[in-house]
Amino acid sequence: MKLSDLKTGEKAVVVRVSGHGSFRKRITEMGFVKGNEVKVILNAPLKDPIEYELIGYKISLRREEAEKIEVLTDKEAKRSAELKMKTIRVALVGNPNCGKTSLFNVASGSHEHVGNYSGVTVDAKEGYFEKNGYKFVIVDLPGTYSLSAFSAEELYVRKNLIENVPDVVINVVDSSNLQRNLYLTTQIIDMNLRMVVALNMYDELQARGDKLDVQQLGYLLGLPVVPTVSRSGEGIDELFDTVIELYEHNTERLSRHIHINHGAELEHSIESLQALLKKNENLRFKYSTRYLAIKYLENDSDIEAIVEALPNRDEIIAHRYEEQKRIQSLLSVSLEEAIVEAKYAFVQGALKETWQRGNKQKRKENITEKIDSIVTNKWAAFPIFIFLLFIVFQVTFSLGEYPMQWIEWLVDKLGEMVALVMPDSWFKELIINGIIGGVGSVLVFLPNILLLYFFISLLEDSGYMARAAFIMDKLMHKMGLHGKSFIPMVMGFGCNVPAIMACRTIESRKSRLITIFILPFMSCAGRLPVYIMITSVFFAKYGGLILLGLYLLGIIVAIISARILSRFLKNDDLPFVMELPPYRIPTAKSIFRHTWEKAKEYLQKMGGIILIFSIILWFLGYFPNHDAYSTVAEQQEHSFIGYIGKAVEPAMAPMGFDWKMDVGILAGVGAKELIVSTMAVLDAKPASAASAVAFLVFILLYLPCIATFVAVKREAGGWKWAICSAVYTFVIAWILSFLSYHIALMFV
Ligand code: GDP
Ligand code: MG
Repeated sequence: MKLSDLKTGEKAVVVRVSGHGSFRKRITEMGFVKGNEVKVILNAPLKDPIEYELIGYKISLRREEAEKIEVLTDKEAKRSAELKMKTIRVALVGNPNCGKTSLFNVASGSHEHVGNYSGVTVDAKEGYFEKNGYKFVIVDLPGTYSLSAFSAEELYVRKNLIENVPDVVINVVDSSNLQRNLYLTTQIIDMNLRMVVALNMYDELQARGDKLDVQQLGYLLGLPVVPTVSRSGEGIDELFDTVIELYEHNTERLSRHIHINHGAELEHSIESLQALLKKNENLRFKYSTRYLAIKYLENDSDIEAIVEALPNRDEIIAHRYEEQKRIQSLLSVSLEEAIVEAKYAFVQGALKETWQRGNKQKRKENITEKIDSIVTNKWAAFPIFIFLLFIVFQVTFSLGEYPMQWIEWLVDKLGEMVALVMPDSWFKELIINGIIGGVGSVLVFLPNILLLYFFISLLEDSGYMARAAFIMDKLMHKMGLHGKSFIPMVMGFGCNVPAIMACRTIESRKSRLITIFILPFMSCAGRLPVYIMITSVFFAKYGGLILLGLYLLGIIVAIISARILSRFLKNDDLPFVMELPPYRIPTAKSIFRHTWEKAKEYLQKMGGIILIFSIILWFLGYFPNHDAYSTVAEQQEHSFIGYIGKAVEPAMAPMGFDWKMDVGILAGVGAKELIVSTMAVLDAKPASAASAVAFLVFILLYLPCIATFVAVKREAGGWKWAICSAVYTFVIAWILSFLSYHIALMFV
């Protein structure tokens, strides 16, 4: 009977808790575990909540919660020995013609007591059988391709899963059509139900010569997966053994609840909507709010009806409208389509890693498959990847030069104009040299940064970036990372701060921490101006090559650091799917939008931190002793900044840096862009090509800027990490810069 049916003073033993995963987890954590005795302290009709005593504690439960807990009273137990036998309720869910009925028949076999019971317009068969001391109640639900509210079948299946909540769902999958069948699986995963996948028609998969890594597929889906042939009965025993195991002791090894990752933009929509839904306490007993959120975003009419009845429905409706607009303009597909696409991308990713089509089939490949067969090819993948990166940096460098000259000219003219109209004073100097000179010297690199982000957006939106992550996965694993760490790392080339924030999407804690820690070695766009300034003076002809070399050096240092770090961190490396969206021609709108967003951030940084630091640095360089010396160089040397630079000079002298370069390096702690403006104000330059190389290496690797430092603290969860990261990067920078100085001296 249900716990809610017990009267005040009655005692019973908990038999099972039903409901979706997170509900069950919460209830069992309270102590409602099979075998525990529970006593009703107070259960008045119509009174909510009900008060219970359990393992010596008093607990109150809502009636809805108590309805989901099944108990056995002493009387019941004595009356019938049969009742003591554990019953497991199983539902078969799957596409039409995947072999559900065959499985149902072979499982219930001679003991079947098939009784048809009807839904409104559709039928479901229920059968019973016993195995290993368990009684199974098995329901053969109608076949569906999806769990939307489109057809009567779909609604029926959904209702059954939510209202009757089977103990275990068997998702029957046709192995000869994995893509389409696993799409349904992702929808059941959203519902957070206990589930086993029966890879049915496994004989056909084998006959076609396909190769499938069943175990790995199970790990990726977070579900036990059992191959079956329901026509012959092969694998059915194992299937139900797995059901029993899952029912009795559900361990993380056997199954863990994963979230289908719908990509950053959609996940944002889902999570924000979920937060609004969660305000309604009583929804959570019955539904996974994540499932509700996803379905509601898909315009599911059934869920719309549920939302209609909520007290905060206006808020929710308005929010969906906002998100629909946002996604539409960002991805140029509707929210609904974007969700379906993301789920297919998940399935594609899981299959790419575990499944190889047999040679026996001749079939036409679609465009995405054709492109993939080239860009993820064993031999071609890396050369293509390196080549693309090279092109990106080369084009960024050469194309960016023209607008850079225009901006430079404009900044010069502006300075000259101010010089003409303003009377001589220190204030005039501040405006011209401090503000216009300082901010201007950063502004000229805006075209380069725009170009870089333009290309990154292009690679991301076209779908190539996901492939790049995929081909990097094996390599990333060698570093104790996951392929998913790759996207934040590429984003780090733009700015480390959003990249570190993007690490939230990495499910494994270990991979996440390592990625955050090594991200400062990804050469951000803030460092680019320094490279361009130095290379254009010292290595004009080899600009692109030097740039590529620096970026690669950063990557190599990151790899080595990751390997070292992965020895110290506990291994929690669970496999996760890398989603593979279809290729598409990026829309101009989304590319420009992504690029513009970054440009805006960059401009804001210039209006804020860079402006402030420019002014401070100018003051430090102007005072004291401004009028005591005849030459600028002498004056600078005897300014505050000169004193600071001189104080640290001995530590940096082994790389051939003078105090002016040291001041530049110090300024870079505020923001890397400031190195250029500071050096411009000081008129600082490396003395030789060798020290130029050493300087580039140092700038690439040393201390993360303040903003990154704070981001590391926040995302890694502690100052310990941020400080470690600062010390580590500085030491590495010094050593490698020292080495490169001496190596360069041998050649130059
Ligand atoms: P349902 O629509 O999911 O209930 O599928 P059925 O159980 O009616 O099966 C559809 C067809 O697939 C029937 O012709 C079955 O004989 C066949 N079938 C079912 N399971 C298997 C299997 O494991 N291997 C093969 N080769 N055929 C199967
Ligand atoms: Mg059937």
